[in-house]
Amino acid sequence: MTLSWQLELVSIGAVAPVVMRLLREDLVSRLSHAVWIAEASISPVPAFDHHRQQYLASALLEMLLVPPPPPGVRRIAVTDVDLFLPVFTHVFGSAQLDGPVGVASTFRLHPDAVAGTVDPEVLRHRLLKEVLHELGHTFGLVHCRVPWCAMSPSRLPEEVDLKDAAYCTACAVRVGVPEEIPYHLDEQDPP
Ligand SMILES: [Zn+2]
Ligand SMILES: [Zn+2]
Repeated sequence: MTLSWQLELVSIGAVAPVVMRLLREDLVSRLSHAVWIAEASISPVPAFDHHRQQYLASALLEMLLVPPPPPGVRRIAVTDVDLFLPVFTHVFGSAQLDGPVGVASTFRLHPDAVAGTVDPEVLRHRLLKEVLHELGHTFGLVHCRVPWCAMSPSRLPEEVDLKDAAYCTACAVRVGVPEEIPYHLDEQDPP
């Protein structure tokens, strides 16, 4: 709890305002840091790759750096478009390792069912965990071996469900947020 930082949420594309509002509420209740939603949303069009018909996550990160976030501010974007990085078919999100910006997408967080039919509460929790995950990367955290930790890697949306919307003790210290270990007294951190 010694770190001082604030979180700015930005929407890219057509993210419903209610999704941003609920995400902010969920983050405020977990982070004990100021969280706000930027008024202007960003168009994802400059990051569109015509060959892949997807959006290049690293290009969106570059866009989020203009203008650079003020010192002490993390800027995490939420988007509804399908993200990719050259070596992956798709990604849930991406972030600068130890940098101020990240992006999370709802596109692949839908289960196999047709987008829009998923329980909004399921999607809400998946997005929260994905944003916590990308936020952790901006503090230099790499993937965590504690299965329930938000910094544990996920390939499928159902794997996101297995994680908790919280960091393990070691990751929480690095991010400077309250630890939520009482909920997981039966879990053991790896040595
Ligand atoms: Zn990751
Ligand atoms: Zn962890």
